[in-house]
Amino acid sequence: MTVTMQINSSLAIITIDNPPVNGLGHATRAAIAECLKGAEANPEVFAVLLTGSAKAFSGGADIKEFGTEKTFAQPSLPALIEQMDAYTKPIVAVINGVCMGGGLELALACHYRGATSGVQIALPEVKLGLLPGAGGTQRLPRLLAMETCVSMISSGQIVLSDQLALSTAQSSTQSTLFDVYEPDPQNLFARAQDFARDIAAVRPIPRVRDLAANAPIKSDLFSTARSDLMKKSKHFPAPFACLDALEASLTQTFDEGIKTERAIFQRLLQSLESSALRHIFMAERAAGKIAGVDANTPLRNIKSVAVIGAGTMGAGIAMNFANVGIPVQILDLQAASLEKGLERIRNNYQSSVSKGKLTPAQCEQRCALIVGVDHYAAIAQADLVIEAVFEDMQVKQSVFEQLDQVMKTGAILASNTSTLDLNQIARFTKRPQDVIGLHFFSPANVMELLEIVRGEQTAADVLATCSALAKKIKKTAVVAGVCDGFIGNRMLEQYTKQAAFLLEEGCTPQQVDHAIEAFGFAMGPFRMSDLAGNDISWAIRKRRLMANPHAVYSKLGDLLCEQGRFGQKTQAGWYDYQANDRTAHSSDLVNQLIKQYAQTQGIAQRPISDEEIVQRLVLALANEGRKILRDGIAARASDIDIVYLKGYGFPLHRGGPMFYADHLGWDKVDSLLLQFQQGHQGGTWTL
Ligand code: NAD
Repeated sequence: MTVTMQINSSLAIITIDNPPVNGLGHATRAAIAECLKGAEANPEVFAVLLTGSAKAFSGGADIKEFGTEKTFAQPSLPALIEQMDAYTKPIVAVINGVCMGGGLELALACHYRGATSGVQIALPEVKLGLLPGAGGTQRLPRLLAMETCVSMISSGQIVLSDQLALSTAQSSTQSTLFDVYEPDPQNLFARAQDFARDIAAVRPIPRVRDLAANAPIKSDLFSTARSDLMKKSKHFPAPFACLDALEASLTQTFDEGIKTERAIFQRLLQSLESSALRHIFMAERAAGKIAGVDANTPLRNIKSVAVIGAGTMGAGIAMNFANVGIPVQILDLQAASLEKGLERIRNNYQSSVSKGKLTPAQCEQRCALIVGVDHYAAIAQADLVIEAVFEDMQVKQSVFEQLDQVMKTGAILASNTSTLDLNQIARFTKRPQDVIGLHFFSPANVMELLEIVRGEQTAADVLATCSALAKKIKKTAVVAGVCDGFIGNRMLEQYTKQAAFLLEEGCTPQQVDHAIEAFGFAMGPFRMSDLAGNDISWAIRKRRLMANPHAVYSKLGDLLCEQGRFGQKTQAGWYDYQANDRTAHSSDLVNQLIKQYAQTQGIAQRPISDEEIVQRLVLALANEGRKILRDGIAARASDIDIVYLKGYGFPLHRGGPMFYADHLGWDKVDSLLLQFQQGHQGGTWTL
C-alpha cells in the first residue's frame, strides 16, 4: 500500500505511505491520482487533505526507480499536477518532516499548504545537474520572494519551514507559501482539518499558477547571481539554467514558463554533467554495499578508540573521533612527538574557533576527549585501535605484535598504511580476522575519503563495523583489496609516471598542470607534488626500486630532489616559490634541467597538445582502474570513481576516470592506448 484514503466528516484524507521518505515512485503517483479521482467523484467530500505518513510529506523522486522507465511513466508528476490544476475541490497539503524536489512541486500544486516547524524544504535537482521539472521554477516564485527562489533553486540547499514562514510573513507580496503554519507538529493535522472545512466552499479555488511571479527587489539580482555562479559552478550548466527558468516566470505566461522549464529540463537531462552527477549520486550509495557482507551483520560496539603514532596522520585521525564524541587515546613512544601531535590537534581546533566554525566550549570538549599515553597497557580496553606509525614493515611488526599481546578480545586492529601488505601485517597477530586497513587521506581530519582495506581474513563484522563507523565520522568509504597502493595510490602512480614522461618528451611542468587544471582538476601533478613534498615520492620510488630494480620511470623527479628541490617547503621544486607565498613561478633552471636530461637520454622532444596531455593522464588512471577491477581490488567501477572524486580532486562534472572512459567508449580508449604504446616509453602502457 503506497497511498491510503479515508473519508472523515466531508474531508478526504489522502496519505502517501511509501517509506522511507514517501518517494513519488510510479505506483505512488498512480495511487495518488486514483485517490484524487475517487475523492472528486464522491459527493460527500468537500475538500481533500494530502499528507505523508510518518516523518515526511515527500522526499521527491523515488531513488529506487532512478534512471528506469518508471521515472517518467504515466501518470508522470507533471500529469498528476495537471490533474490537480483542473481539480474541482480544494486540496490542502499538510506538510511535515521532509518536503523536497517533486514532493515540494506536488505541494505547490495544491491549492493551500499547511506546515509545521522544522520541515526540510528544498528543490535539490540542481545537485543532480537538473532543475525542478514539474513546475517548481514557475510556482515557487509566485509564492516566495524571487531572491529566496534564486538561492534555493540554484543551490539546492535545504531551508527550514520556520525560516520560510517568517520570510513570507514579512514579505511585501500578497502570496504566502503556507496558509497554515502550526509550530507544534502534534497540532498541525487538527489545524489543517479546521482550515480545510473553513475554505471548503470558497470559490474560485485559488491556484498558484494564477498568481503573478514576484519581481526581484534588486534589478541586478540575476546578473549578480550569474557572476557568483561563474566563480563557483562554471563547469555546471544547471545552476545557470535554473536562473533562466526563474527569469522566464517573470517574462512569460505560466503555460509558456512551464514549456520553457520542460525544454530546459530535457536539455539538462541529456547533458554529460548531469549524467556525471547522477552517476556519482548512485555510486556513493553503491559504495556502502560490501560484497559478501550482509547488510544485517551485527556490528561491534565502538565506544573508544586508540591511535598509535601522533604524527601527521595520527593527530588528524584522532580528531575525527573526538568530533563525534568518541574518546581517543593517542600513543606515541617519543614524548616530544606526542606533545607536538596534541599541540597540532589543539591548534587545529583553535583555528576552527577563530573561523567561527566551533565554539570555544566545543574546542575544549573535543580536546578533552583526546588523551596522550606512552605505553601499550593503557590502551588495552579500546574497541578500535588505528596504527599510524612510520611506513616501515619492521615498525609495523613491532606495533602489531604488541597490540596482539595487550588488546582485549574483539578489539578491531587497523592499520593506516598507504602501501604495505596488510595480509602480512595481519599475520603478525594471532587474530588476522580482526585486522583491517583504514587508509585515511591527508589531512585526515579534512579529507572525506576513507579506503577500507579488506585483508584476506578480515571478518565480515569488522568490515561492516568500520563501514558504519566511517559514516558516523562523515567519511565516504570505499572497500579495497590488498595490493601496493590499494585503489587510489596504485592509480596515482601511473598518472604521475605519465606526467613525468610528458616532461621528458617536451612539455613544461606548467603546460601539463595547466592542461589538466583546464580539464577540471583542482591542481596539476607538479603543483600537487610541490605541495605534498617531492621528497616523499622520492623515498617511495627508492623503496620500490629496491623491490623491483627494473621498474621503468622518469629519473627527473630524483634529479630534482638531489638538488634539494623538495617543493614549497624549500621554496623550490618543479616551480620556484617566494617566501610565504604559494604562487608557483615557472623555473628556468628546471626547464633547462628537463631539456638537458632529454638530450643526454637521446629523447626527441616535440610539441604536445593539451588534448594529448589530458588523455594520457586520465587514461593512465582509467587503464589502471580497469586492471584494479580485473584483479578484484575494487568491487565496482563506480567505487574507483568515488576514490578519485573524493580523494584526488578529479573534477565532479567529469564523473570520475571510469565514467570518463565509459563515456569515451572503451574501444576508443584501447585504440588510444595502442597509439601511446608506439610513443615515448610506450612499453609502460600495458592493457
Ligand atoms: P609521521 O612520521 O608524521 O608520524 C609517525 C609517528 O609515529 C611519529 O610521531 C612517531 O614518533 C610515531 N611512531 C613511530 N614508531 C612508533 C611506535 N613503534 N609506537 C608508537 N609510535 C611510533 O608519519 P605519517 O605521515 O603520519 O604516516 C603514518 C602512517 O600513515 C604511515 O603508514 C603512512 O604511510 C600512512 N599515511 C600517510 C599519509 C600522509 O600523507 N602522510 C597518508 C595516508 C597514510
